[in-house]
Amino acid sequence: MKNETGAKLPKHGITTTLLHLDRQGRPEHGSLHKPIHTSIAYGYEKAEGLAAVFQNRVPGYAYARQANPTVTAVEAKVTALEQGIGTICFGTGMAALGAVMLAFLRRGDHVVASRYLFGNTASLLSTLDLAGIDVTFADATDTAAVEAAIRPQTKVVLVETIANPVTQIADLEGLGVLCRARGLIYIVDNTLTSGVLFLPKDVHATFSVNSLSKHFGGHGDALGGSVTDLGNFDWSTYPNIHDLYKTGDAARWALLQLRKKGLRDFGGTLSPEAAHSLSIGSETLALRLERACDNAQKLAELLAANPKVRAVHYPGLPGHPHHERTKKLFCRAGTLLSFELHDDVDTFAVLDRLNIAIISSNLGDARTLVIPVAKTIYWELGEEKRRDMGIAESLVRVSVGIEDTADLLADFAQALG
Ligand SMILES: *Cc1c(COP(=O)(O)O)cnc(C)c1O
Repeated sequence: MKNETGAKLPKHGITTTLLHLDRQGRPEHGSLHKPIHTSIAYGYEKAEGLAAVFQNRVPGYAYARQANPTVTAVEAKVTALEQGIGTICFGTGMAALGAVMLAFLRRGDHVVASRYLFGNTASLLSTLDLAGIDVTFADATDTAAVEAAIRPQTKVVLVETIANPVTQIADLEGLGVLCRARGLIYIVDNTLTSGVLFLPKDVHATFSVNSLSKHFGGHGDALGGSVTDLGNFDWSTYPNIHDLYKTGDAARWALLQLRKKGLRDFGGTLSPEAAHSLSIGSETLALRLERACDNAQKLAELLAANPKVRAVHYPGLPGHPHHERTKKLFCRAGTLLSFELHDDVDTFAVLDRLNIAIISSNLGDARTLVIPVAKTIYWELGEEKRRDMGIAESLVRVSVGIEDTADLLADFAQALG
């Protein structure tokens, strides 16, 4: 991928890998795609065969809640993309986050989480807090603030790469050094960047979590989530691994525990049909991101130059508080931006005049989507809390898609008048 900042280029031909990975598993009849396997149960000729699968002595399929061949093929693609040692897929990104937290935490453990988190993730953490896993929110753009929140009971640090909707960038490198020194599980939600723009593995993250519903699938037609073990954590000394799962190579203990305690017991399984859609979508992931990042950069520049716009939040703009960090960490500055209009401009009227960009709550879609955040996804919080979070009443989030650049820029230019 081209890099306009000259900062960092990806190390691997990920499109080639994603296009050809299914065939390496020799699917039936030479099929180029892994087929959609709909069977819930799997039959064995010998009882010993089924027993060996149940006892984790050989890989295999028994009941589709915890493993399915079509899902396994997607897991292999996410592992390749993230350069990890293994991946477990889930029915949604939230199922992935819920499972990874509950599989590795116990009552009395403590989590330090970013103050700038996807709203549903913050809500999930408040549920865990009520259930006896303590949570502290800290400013993850500042490693010292996270360090100050650490207690003897702290087990996990959870952050996102590019925060939605104001695009703060966590100090991903500094937090990696901190977590390594303190022996903490470091979870990076890589949804906004994906393995194409950023590898959490490079900053010593333990797990990379992705909502596959967003960029990975990219077409807004299938939900999915994933947790990838990046091979950076020494599980042999982690206290919350059950004895049952301490079998074989310690590097794989966490994946086994996550599959059993996180996926099997909670049952947030990815369906084979969704797995297939996500897999097909992923073939164009790098191409889509290249176009969408180009579009986002140009749209941010167009908005920043418009007199009706009070502020633009996009890490690819030199005035962004984390612009230098972005150049150092990511190949490109991403596909998410947000902007504020001056008080005398009617935000809804501007959005209603858009013909191409769609007023919608998703992100990471191939289409450009806009949402007035204070009146929708952050409405429940109330004005005071929004102000604390730096969310202006006029803030519009834009998830930039892959439309032809000229069409997209013209649409926003005419809508702003
Ligand atoms: C959308 C999103 C999630 C949740 O993913 P779902 O697939 O919708 O459950 C988690 N984290 C981030 C950063 C997201 O954008």
